[in-house]
Amino acid sequence: MKATFLGTGTSIGIPVIGCDCPVCRSEDPRNRRLRTGLFLESDHFNILIDTPPDFREQALTHNIRRVDAVLFTHTHADHIFGFDDIRRFNTIQQSVIPAYGSRESIADLLRIFDYVGTEKVPGLYRPQIEFCEITGPFKLGNINIEPLRVEHGPGFALGFLFRHGDQTFGYVPDCGAMPDEVVEKLSGVDVMVLDALRHKPHRTHLTLEDSIGLLQRIAAKRSFVIHMCHDLDHEELCRTLPDGIKPSFDGLVVEL
Ligand SMILES: [Zn+2]
Ligand SMILES: [Zn+2]
Ligand SMILES: [Zn+2]
Repeated sequence: MKATFLGTGTSIGIPVIGCDCPVCRSEDPRNRRLRTGLFLESDHFNILIDTPPDFREQALTHNIRRVDAVLFTHTHADHIFGFDDIRRFNTIQQSVIPAYGSRESIADLLRIFDYVGTEKVPGLYRPQIEFCEITGPFKLGNINIEPLRVEHGPGFALGFLFRHGDQTFGYVPDCGAMPDEVVEKLSGVDVMVLDALRHKPHRTHLTLEDSIGLLQRIAAKRSFVIHMCHDLDHEELCRTLPDGIKPSFDGLVVEL
């Protein structure tokens, strides 16, 4: 498996519009964070996890030519508002593309993008999607996928445990609290990616300190924090995070 980090920032993106803080004004390109999304490739099967508002730019930057399936973690705006750009892949691939999500996420997507896959307006260029409800573990290409339900208010978000052969990859980008059984399932994965918004407590996201605590319990071989806001400077994170935990950044590629 090969994971490309398309975006690693929180919902407003970094730099934040109109902000002059050191991270927003930083010259370090790793402090420029588009909205969080991931591209996972394995045996020529390409999975896109979430369609952030920046998806078009991300697809161009990383020369994404094919999307075999889309997975949604949840339907906050920062994870879905690039959904319309899936159209281009329908055109390239001349096929309908499956989109996987919880029952709640699919209902939201059908409400927000009510023109998707319908004939309401003839001739409209719209995404051609087959929605697939996630009800338990499933398989895409050669990757086994286990959905992981975590608290992310109001309600919940999904994270995913990807398994290909003996390689395991945990991805939980939005998380306010993680149930013990999810920590257990992720325990000892090869690579783990977890939400870490900032130092100050937040109603729906883990703080960096909470995230470090969970990552130390999960004890992956390699761990990365994601979904960071402008309170967190990349270089400072590199210096201060415990061994084995690193900040992710846009364009990071992790091979498993
Ligand atoms: Zn700022
Ligand atoms: Zn969210
Ligand atoms: Zn988010």
